Amino acid sequence: MHLDPRSLIAMAGFMSAMMAVVLLFMRRNYPANIHGLDYWAAGPVLWLVSTVLFSARGELPDFLTMVVANEALLLGAIVYYLGSRRFLGHGGGWALWGSVAAASALVFTWLTYFAPNYALRVAIFTVLMAALYCAHLRFLYRRGDKGFPMRLVQVVLALHILVLMARFASVIWGNAGSDLMEPSLYQTIYVGAYVLTVLMLSIGAILMATDRVRNELEYLANHDSLTQALNRRAVMQLCQEELERARRHGGGPSILMLDLDHFKRVNDTLGHQHGDAVLAHFAACARSALRREDRLGRYGGEEFLVLLPHTDARAADHVAQRIHTLLQAGHLLDCQLSIGLTSWRGPVDTLEAMLGRADAALYQAKDQGRNQTCAV
Ligand code: GH3
Ligand code: MG
Ligand code: MG
Repeated sequence: MHLDPRSLIAMAGFMSAMMAVVLLFMRRNYPANIHGLDYWAAGPVLWLVSTVLFSARGELPDFLTMVVANEALLLGAIVYYLGSRRFLGHGGGWALWGSVAAASALVFTWLTYFAPNYALRVAIFTVLMAALYCAHLRFLYRRGDKGFPMRLVQVVLALHILVLMARFASVIWGNAGSDLMEPSLYQTIYVGAYVLTVLMLSIGAILMATDRVRNELEYLANHDSLTQALNRRAVMQLCQEELERARRHGGGPSILMLDLDHFKRVNDTLGHQHGDAVLAHFAACARSALRREDRLGRYGGEEFLVLLPHTDARAADHVAQRIHTLLQAGHLLDCQLSIGLTSWRGPVDTLEAMLGRADAALYQAKDQGRNQTCAV
């Protein structure tokens, strides 16, 4: 197949159109708290406009096919970058990059009509695009996560920066050609890289947004919405996994079963809403008493379970005492609670047995006057 720039540009246009449709669909249907999708969708729309204009060279006025076409290409990359910023919770970017776009429009007009110079236009354009991609890459590197979608976009941006640098070097060495549509090797590589970038950046945006939705759904499926503690199923699963790990490698966990004291009274005297606030406050305090690998789960209404991996009874008792202390700090929503503590008894121990012991210890704490921890 003979890949002349004109057919490559047509391909880029086709891909931009397809990607714009997908991203616009996602923007309509994805949760509103996923920001940046409108910007990401505007990117391929602008790239589509630019490819249509580039293809019409010779048929439409030069102002459209050169100045506006290049501006649309640059603006597409700008809104794509601003989309990434918004996706990661950062605003801004318009003041700087809007000014760059406006200034470059003036310069391109000058270099098309008043001092026609194709090589200088190409040089300025490649420098602007490379600077924009560098800003984008730096932003994603510093603010983004380490997931595959984010990494993919970073690699695409880095590769395109290399292509832009090669293009810039070719201009410096006098190989710019005289027209974008010239079927030279340089132009083919340059336009081909552009086609791939359009495709891969759009796919990257789709993957980043999908990844975010998946993470949010996973969080909702595993957490309790009032206290943000793990729900019962999730914490039970982690307990099982921890016991299996302990069976293979030793160093089993301790488990705390927590129950707020006289919580019914709190609801009855101060109302359910106040009760809810007490639960949320309790969970936040309990979490702050835990180490990074410890897990807090909501076992039932006002009963919670703490999984302390690789922890013996003594260390677990320290954690329990920290929780008691944190909830007696004089806060309006502080409460008292009873805790049942049990530790792993070797490879024959099971989760059912541990939960039974923790429950028995909890009842002992209640019997002995509440607001204390008992260990079994
Ligand atoms: P004890 O010291 O023996 O544990 O007494 P208690 O009153 O805490 O125990 P009981 O089991 O009698 O009452 C638990 C109360 O917790 C009853 C229920 O209405 C309340 N509760 C359970 N889930 C929620 C919730 O999500 N929000 C609120 N506000 N209350 C809840
Ligand atoms: Mg209770
Ligand atoms: Mg209870």
